[in-house]
Amino acid sequence: MKSYDAIIAGGGLIGGAIALELARNDLRVALFDSQEPGREASWASAGILSPAPENPAMISMVPIGKASLALYPAFISQVEELSGIETGYRDKGTLEALFSRHAREELNTIVALHRGLGLAAEAISAKEARELEPALSEELEAAVLRPNEASVDNRLLTKSLIAAAKRSGAEIHAGKPVQAVWREASRCLGAVVNGEKVSAKHTIIAAGAFSSQIVGAGDYAPVRPAKGQMISLRCEAARIERVLWSERIYLVPRNDGRILCGATLEHVGFDKTVTAAGILANLDAAIQLAPVLAGARVEEQWAGLRPDSPDHLPILGPAGFDGLHIATGHYRSGVLLTPITAKLICELLLEATPSVDCEKFSPLRFQQAGEAARISGVPR
Ligand SMILES: Cc1cc2nc3c(=O)[nH]c(=O)nc-3n(C[C@H](O)[C@H](O)[C@H](O)COP(=O)(O)OP(=O)(O)OC[C@H]3O[C@@H](n4cnc5c(N)ncnc54)[C@H](O)[C@@H]3O)c2cc1C
Repeated sequence: MKSYDAIIAGGGLIGGAIALELARNDLRVALFDSQEPGREASWASAGILSPAPENPAMISMVPIGKASLALYPAFISQVEELSGIETGYRDKGTLEALFSRHAREELNTIVALHRGLGLAAEAISAKEARELEPALSEELEAAVLRPNEASVDNRLLTKSLIAAAKRSGAEIHAGKPVQAVWREASRCLGAVVNGEKVSAKHTIIAAGAFSSQIVGAGDYAPVRPAKGQMISLRCEAARIERVLWSERIYLVPRNDGRILCGATLEHVGFDKTVTAAGILANLDAAIQLAPVLAGARVEEQWAGLRPDSPDHLPILGPAGFDGLHIATGHYRSGVLLTPITAKLICELLLEATPSVDCEKFSPLRFQQAGEAARISGVPR
């Protein structure tokens, strides 16, 4: 029987980054993915790196979001250097466009909220916003500039990360599903992988929206898929430097000239169909924000599944018995939270003090709140 210090279920950004971090700390690591690593949410994502909360429920995520954004430049340098694969990291800031008639009053509230959370934000006029981003609609009333935010090409980053983990000594196994946690009494001894037991001191569940399907992990990782549809455009006439947001959409420029538009938010199980309504919603909102995109060429359309937890917060840390750790539930912020997740899981495994307080993300909170029972209808 094969034996490791740590085995990881799932080779998306989260599993890949944990594999890299653990291998760099001299652990014998094996990562198992049911398919080719990096073909699920980490492939489908938009790659925006923004710790700004989208709603009040996300405010408790701001400290780890800020910590992760701060780790990004060094993380990117390390991953690119180890793998030789560039990741399309762009630290050009993001710009939130306001269209309502009350935009000026809203602006003050938004900027005050950001600053209160320690996030850099500047109120700018419609004219200033259009000078920075000429593609923005003339209907714009005002804007908020968040100069420290960034984006990354998540597909390239996943590829780069898996290569870097491999280069650092982690074994990467494609087409090997983790079927069950191998538990005896109060200890996790490893996992059942593709019908065989694999022994490990530490087992980490990082299978994104699929984590709850792994037998024995569901109670600690009660995630469900939240589908998002995206469209990629090419438009020579549109020069977009920063990530642009409206209430309805975001536009993310890539270094190769593509502009990504997204995303819908749907709870429809594991279905990844690109629908007419999804395409309409994305294109209508994209053209409202940047009318020049009406002439863009549609290059690609796709959908992916965000790992959504009952309280929409990440699930990080030790599960109820020795040797089992969970790293999932990153929902809409998994790309942002990749470096800090890997750092925290490594710190927890090595019994070091976590660099950011992560107690509120404990996998045990669902048992305490009876939430696991509430969502027992999740497909497993
Ligand atoms: C449309 C969309 C837009 C998004 N935009 C952003 C954004 O702008 N910024 C941001 O920060 N986040 C964004 N997200 C969220 C982010 O993409 C996710 O939170 C993140 O990618 C989750 O990474 P992961 O590694 O946990 O999961 P995944 O990338 O889904 O990886 C899970 C892996 O586990 C594997 N797997 C499944 N079952 C098993 C099993 N039984 N055994 C072994 N392996 C298994 C899968 O094959 C897969 O490779 C977006 C998501 C979507 C869908």
